Formats: sequence, structure tokens, C-alpha cells
Amino acid sequence: MLETSASDHAVYKPHIVAIANQKGGVGKTTTAVNLAASLAASGAPVLLIDFDPQGNASTGLGVASQDRGAGSYQLIDDGAPASIETYHTKYPGLWLIPAGPDLVGAEVELAAKTRREFQLRDALSAWRAAAPFRYILIDCPPSLGLLTLNALVAADGVLVPLQCEFYALEGVSGLTRTIEMVRRRLNPALRLRGVVLTMYDKRNNLSDLVAEDARGFFGDWVYETVIPRNVRLSEAPSHGMPVSEYDPRSAGAQAYAQLAEELLRRDSVPAASAVAR
Ligand code: ADP
Ligand code: MG
Repeated sequence: MLETSASDHAVYKPHIVAIANQKGGVGKTTTAVNLAASLAASGAPVLLIDFDPQGNASTGLGVASQDRGAGSYQLIDDGAPASIETYHTKYPGLWLIPAGPDLVGAEVELAAKTRREFQLRDALSAWRAAAPFRYILIDCPPSLGLLTLNALVAADGVLVPLQCEFYALEGVSGLTRTIEMVRRRLNPALRLRGVVLTMYDKRNNLSDLVAEDARGFFGDWVYETVIPRNVRLSEAPSHGMPVSEYDPRSAGAQAYAQLAEELLRRDSVPAASAVAR
């Protein structure tokens, strides 16, 4: 919801969305980077938090290691930081908190802390109300470890990328159980926000079967927009660009633009259907 402050600057309470699936290679980072860029291009300012020690989202947005500053490690380093350092990308409306090298040891360090699941939430909570973003997207690592748990505890919603391949739904129950556990014990506000089918290949019957299965399992939570397998999406990160910049006419760029539109559309509708699953 857009609010207007006394100074007439737009002030948002950003939606915090964790992009999670404990499987690697399903399209989390590709979705995080390109959805963020597409939302920003549609006029919804976005902060993307790279929460994977591999730092693929940071690389994908062309931010070199030496430019990553405090990075997302500052968000899990005990207590609310006085200020949060963000990196303004060269794309209007798109900010990043990159993943620096410190993040590699973070899971182990987190394990020793008392509020180990709440570090990110604590860091964002005071800051969030005044943060000039419509969305904060969190690109999670491929595990259900403490970094992902921190993301789920800080978030209002989880977006799950599901790769259209044979084992897609295997392991999904682990993820839905984790979401349920987090909601019960740590963050009652957490909701499944949507499932996005990725790497859909229309020449492969299996893709349709997986899509059908996913819709059977998740129902309306599956976005209508399906992300096709598209080589431009896999090339763009090596140029440090979102696909919308690398090849705006590609099927991949169009699909992520459409996903951003769908997300914005769903968010502008009163959340009558947004009941807990
Ligand atoms: P994750 O973050 O879940 O590990 P990535 O987003 O890094 O997954 O994707 C894994 C690999 O698949 C990457 O090399 C990426 O470029 C590629 N990829 C992701 N989505 C697509 C797609 N729709 N079409 C083609 N390649 C894709
Ligand atoms: Mg990734």
C-alpha cells in the first residue's frame, strides 16, 4: 500500500519475500535477479539481499567482490545495525545488499548465537518501516540451514521456484514443513506467496506433467506465468546484467516482466485469498 508522508515522498512498508528452495539449480538466483530488475523497471523500488555465500546474485548484477562492502553479513552480526549499507545498482529503482566473503562462515557463527534465527529480522525490523522500497527480495542459499531460516523468519512471504524436471516435487514437502514450522514457532506472519515454474520446455512432455503436478499440489499458489528454458537467461549473469538489460526481447526477459506484473497485480488485490495453507 502506498502511503504519502508529510514531505510528499512515497513511503512504503516493503513486502519482504524470501526466494527459497533447498535444491540447488532450480532458478532461485535467476528469479531473484530478474524479478527484482523487472519490478524495479515497473516502478516498484526493490532491494535485493544476496543471502547465499556463493554470491551469484551479486555477480549476476555485475558487482565485483571488491565493491561489495559490508554486504549481507552486516545483517546477521548481532542486533540492529545503526545503519544498513546498500549498494545502488546502475538500474533505477534497484538496490542490492551483496554477499561478501564473510558470509561463508555465517552458518557456523549463527549457530552459536542465542537469537540465531532472528538476526536478519532484528536487523531489518526498525529499518524496514522507513526503507524506500516496495519489495525486499532475499535470494536464499540451497539449504534449509540457518541462513534460509533467518530469511523465513524475516519475511512475510516465500516464493518457491520449482524447476520443471522429474524430481521437482521431491523435497518440496521438506520445504513446506519448514515453512509451517517457522509459522508456528518463529514467524506467524509467514505465508507461501507463490510457486513459480522455471525452465519450462514446451518440447518436453515432462515439463507439462510437472506443471500439472505442481498445480495439483499447490493449486492457485502456482503463478500463471511460467518461466521458459531460455539460453539468454543463462548467459546474462556472465555479463553482469539482468536479462531485461542483456536481451529485453528474449523470451526469458518477457517472462520475468510478466511475472513482475502478476506479482504486482496479486498484491494490489485485497488479500481475500491469502489465507494460510
Ligand atoms: P539456484 O539459485 O536455485 O541455484 P540458478 O538461478 O543459479 O539456480 O540457476 C541454475 C542454473 O540454471 C544457472 O546456470 C542459470 O543460469 C540456469 N537457469 C536458470 N533459469 C533458467 C532458465 N529459465 N533457462 C535457462 N537457464 C536457466
Ligand atoms: Mg542461487
